Amino acid sequence: MLIAIDGPAGAGKSTVARKLAGLLGYNYVDTGAMYRAVTLIALTSNVSIHDTEALTRLAEELEIRFERGANDETLVIANGRDVTRDIRTPEVSRFVSLVAQVPGVRGHLTDKQRTMAGLGQVVMDGRDIGTVVLPEAGMKIFLTATVEERARRRFFETAGEGYSISLQDHIDEIGTRDILDASREIAPLVQAPDAVVIDTTGKDPDQVVELILSLLRGG
Ligand code: C5P
Repeated sequence: MLIAIDGPAGAGKSTVARKLAGLLGYNYVDTGAMYRAVTLIALTSNVSIHDTEALTRLAEELEIRFERGANDETLVIANGRDVTRDIRTPEVSRFVSLVAQVPGVRGHLTDKQRTMAGLGQVVMDGRDIGTVVLPEAGMKIFLTATVEERARRRFFETAGEGYSISLQDHIDEIGTRDILDASREIAPLVQAPDAVVIDTTGKDPDQVVELILSLLRGG
């Protein structure tokens, strides 16, 4: 069984997908982390964010794996280095949607995602999983929430990580990313026609996971 979870930034995809995978004993693949890893490597190796050929090469050469760390945290290991924290910096968030527009980057990362899913029993989250990466997924979920709620979640997350970014800055950043992700030519953020839409506004992750589990049970 392949489970695809798509939706905009801050809709709760990664928390829900990780919990769901843990409960089902499935592997969890965070595709946003893959785009973030390419962005981080570009930013730290002096590759211009506009050099599409160099970015495509970074995506092709990227070796990425997900490991379970302490407290059920998912560790992201890229090219042999633990980048779990570094891929979540405001700088990476600012540039990632530009990198994710590059066709060559998408091609290579999509191939890697399909290879990971080939092993079966996978929960994969992203923007284009149900539409492009795994159109054959047995269960497709599209998570949404209001921009304010999504920004509020990111605000508390980043404050916990020691960043002082205002709520308004989060609203602006998420709004910009929504527009870039939904309007790009290749694999835009769009709901698959056969996806079940869940509005997570006012719901905690456990409630959303419970809802998905009941859908899986056929309820
Ligand atoms: O999920 P997360 O917010 O970490 O994703 C970061 C960015 O990566 C998104 O804003 C989007 O630009 C890109 N992305 C994508 N396709 C995916 C997953 C993420 O374009 N499947």
